[in-house]
Amino acid sequence: MKTIGLLGGMSWESSLEYYRIINESVKERLGGLHSAQCMMFSFDFAEIETLQTRGDWASATGRMIEAAQQLERGGAECVVICTNTMHRMADEVQAKIDIPLIHIADATAQAIQADGLSQVGLLGTRYTMEQAFYKGRLLDRHGLNVMIPDEPGRTQVHEIIYDELVLGEITDSSREVYRKIIQQMVDVGAEGIILGCTEIGLLIRQAHSPVPVYDTTYLHAVAAVNWALT
Ligand code: GLU
Repeated sequence: MKTIGLLGGMSWESSLEYYRIINESVKERLGGLHSAQCMMFSFDFAEIETLQTRGDWASATGRMIEAAQQLERGGAECVVICTNTMHRMADEVQAKIDIPLIHIADATAQAIQADGLSQVGLLGTRYTMEQAFYKGRLLDRHGLNVMIPDEPGRTQVHEIIYDELVLGEITDSSREVYRKIIQQMVDVGAEGIILGCTEIGLLIRQAHSPVPVYDTTYLHAVAAVNWALT
């Protein structure tokens, strides 16, 4: 089994999910007392969030590269960035390490394509929904058309992530907000919904959507296990 290197703490609420899913998945695949061989660099999320809000992506990229290199020096054989948003600098991180970076959008696209869908709605932070790095990769590499909520919807989705989900606050009222926004995207043609923020799976499950949901945390964690075991 290869050693999985996790860049976590963004937030730790979702890093916990990665750790759980990765270990459960190894146990399911290998049985007995098997668990994942992995290591995590966990950021102080306050520091990362400040850089994001300031738009200081250059410093954020520097911090991500440093941490990925620390994982590599520590013996990690791949890097898994445990957040969609911080895939903004995935290419820069990959360029500075000699081990593969397992990309969250690729893992997600493979699941969507396996279901035969081509048009999906995307929920995530404002950065993930509005900037090109995520939607662009889904379209250019995987031919997926990605829809995002309207402006008021994007603000609600973003604020619920930063004011509640990363703090571990899961409420019925926010779930209702997300359900309405999902329905709006389905009404205009979304065949599936990407839970494109690694905390959204704490709030929204398949039962809350009329179309298939693609939980990026789960799909990314399982992709890392598949890689580690082959
Ligand atoms: N975990 C979130 C994501 O998947 C948001 C937190 C962050 O900004 O990294 O995008």
